[in-house]
Amino acid sequence: MQVTAFIMESFPKTLDEFKTLFHSEEISLQFLFSRRWPHGFECSYCAWENKEQLPSKTITCGHCGHPTSITTNTIMHGTKKPLSQWLMSIWWLTNTEGGHSAKDLQRFLNLSSYQTAWTWLQKLRMAMAVADNKPCRETVELSSETIFFGGDVPEKATILAAAEIILPAGITGRIKMQTINTLSQDTVNTFLENNIVSGSSLIVPNNDAYLDSNRKSFITITSATIYRTREILKSFEIWLNKVHRGGVASKHLQLYLDEFCFRRNAEMLSDKRSIFNLLLSGVISKKSLSYKSIISKPHKE
Ligand SMILES: [Zn+2]
Repeated sequence: MQVTAFIMESFPKTLDEFKTLFHSEEISLQFLFSRRWPHGFECSYCAWENKEQLPSKTITCGHCGHPTSITTNTIMHGTKKPLSQWLMSIWWLTNTEGGHSAKDLQRFLNLSSYQTAWTWLQKLRMAMAVADNKPCRETVELSSETIFFGGDVPEKATILAAAEIILPAGITGRIKMQTINTLSQDTVNTFLENNIVSGSSLIVPNNDAYLDSNRKSFITITSATIYRTREILKSFEIWLNKVHRGGVASKHLQLYLDEFCFRRNAEMLSDKRSIFNLLLSGVISKKSLSYKSIISKPHKE
């Protein structure tokens, strides 16, 4: 276990440094084990704990006999690929600017299957959503726009966006975005519930959908100059069409919004190591599995 205590002290700045550090499956397993069970192994079935358990790919519970793999109940569940490839993908996604298509990941990992690369990236986007779970708070601007994307078959989607305004400097803080079917008081209220801390002050366009007189948990102020969220939505539209070149289907759009928000919000962290650790926390989180249903057939991108 001690190997893992210092393994990330010198955070790798280059891919070669990363490959040197995680040069074997054994090292990758020890590292993931220490991150998943920092206080000792816990059975995925009965929650029995064993602080003395040494890292192993599959562990049989001493209480109920149930086997738990290092990947059980995480987005890596059932993977046949080396753990080092998962770690390398996390490093790559958090150490490179912008974003990547499934083809980029296929080339990066030298995978024979495009579908595997596409599924991995979708899963890693789910992990980003789980990891980047802090709501916006205090003073928050809110608005929605329709964006256009898609290639041969043009698509459009309506998106609600929130942006924290950090006072007194007025700089933009955390952002959140969500696809909606139609803009209404109901969709705005659901978005607020999931993404904004109760009691926050909302700055919204002068539109009935944002002005629910029954809503007591927020202070709502209308403004003619909503620009932060509009800029963010425009940036997202440009990013989506540049990186994915029309290869995104509207049913998967939320995952791309989650990646965009993760990347923007992660810019506020102090260094690349913190961003790596944040995404890793989503990858090994049990909550990531709840997004499994979103995954379906890949689109070319
Ligand atoms: Zn058990």
